[in-house]
Amino acid sequence: MVDCVFCKIAADKIPAKVVYRSDGVIAIEDLNPQAPTHLLVMPVEHFDSLFQLVCDQRADTVVQQLFEVASQLGQKHGSGGYRLVVNTGHEGGQTVGHLHIHVLAGRAMSWPPG
Ligand code: 5GP
Ligand code: ZN
Repeated sequence: MVDCVFCKIAADKIPAKVVYRSDGVIAIEDLNPQAPTHLLVMPVEHFDSLFQLVCDQRADTVVQQLFEVASQLGQKHGSGGYRLVVNTGHEGGQTVGHLHIHVLAGRAMSWPPG
């Protein structure tokens, strides 16, 4: 297994509050929430980033699964909308090198993001 915190969570090696799980996708509560609802939707399989996924032949399926789950969770938890964020790479603000979509909901979002 890659030495990766989200791989370990997906494999139940370290604990997390899991809100959704299928064969290919897992969604957890963020440890440091930035909104009343702050979830992380990720593939069970390790991809370093969104860019690594889109370079993979299976990208279409995985992207569809991820965004479907993320949108459903946003719809469920947001009363008037929600925000999906995919930080990619160092300058994009990515701190965990396992692809994940942030689902933020439960408050009004401002723009631009920091
Ligand atoms: P990034 O900065 O890569 O876009 O997002 C990483 C997110 O993962 C951050 O919001 C951070 O709070 C969250 N995070 C980091 N480590 C853990 C962990 O061990 N458990 C959970 N549930 N969230 C984590
Ligand atoms: Zn991983």
